[in-house]
Amino acid sequence: MIDTGWNREESRKALFDGLAALDVVFEKTDILLTHLHADHSGLAGEVATEKSKVYCGRIDSEIVNAMAGATNYWKEIGAVFGMHGFPAKDLHTAMHNHPGRRFSARKEQTFTILGGEDVVEVGDYRFTCIETPGHTPGHICLYEPDNKVLISGDHILDDITPNITFEKNIENPLGHYLQSLDKINRLEIELVLTGHQSLIHDISKRIGELKEHHHARLEEVLVILGNGRMNAYNVAAKMTWDIIPSSWDLFPLAQKMFAVGEAATHLEYLQYSGVVKRIEIDGQIYFEIN
Ligand SMILES: [Zn+2]
Repeated sequence: MIDTGWNREESRKALFDGLAALDVVFEKTDILLTHLHADHSGLAGEVATEKSKVYCGRIDSEIVNAMAGATNYWKEIGAVFGMHGFPAKDLHTAMHNHPGRRFSARKEQTFTILGGEDVVEVGDYRFTCIETPGHTPGHICLYEPDNKVLISGDHILDDITPNITFEKNIENPLGHYLQSLDKINRLEIELVLTGHQSLIHDISKRIGELKEHHHARLEEVLVILGNGRMNAYNVAAKMTWDIIPSSWDLFPLAQKMFAVGEAATHLEYLQYSGVVKRIEIDGQIYFEIN
């Protein structure tokens, strides 16, 4: 079983009803998490029996357990949003309501770590692990070369653009993400089973679109930054977003967090490219064109 859905009642019911309809034998079922996000990892601990393996990339497995355990994980993530200019008055509410926090696994788990080009055999299928950091630091895809099938998690989606935000244990996530797209583009793939919505048949075309999207975003961020030194929050407020309402002030707080994460990772990419410099003053991060 690949990915599980949120740790909330509606998802639990849909998942267990679906597994019952398929006559799934839990003792014979292993679980693989493509990445740490709670809409993928939230119910792994409830499906797994003592005989099950739960596969995951190393860094993401550590973060799943950090979110479940008594750690300061969410406090630390919230602090980074604060450093990028997220207003303190909104930050507490935004973090409190964050679906990743509310619907993640509640218990630490024992994971079987996948990395490099590890192979998982299931029946006649041989899945090769492909490390694809970017959407999360330890994101993995699975590639089945005989059938030319890729299980892409949230690395490559068709109907929406995977969110690229900052996360613990990764620098320049957008840089990693673009490299991970190139890595997948070198494989022979005829069918992509994605983590959300539509399947993909022409993966090169979709990878081209995703790269173009991020390059257009980088251009947009540079134009905004032409006005002078700014923090990621204010850059995000001036970027164009494909949501309703389009006015920044009316954005739901959760969407503001996604937007600020996107702005910050694009600014960081420009910083790593030497186009932009990062300045820290009194615990606040600003960017300006070099
Ligand atoms: Zn995700």
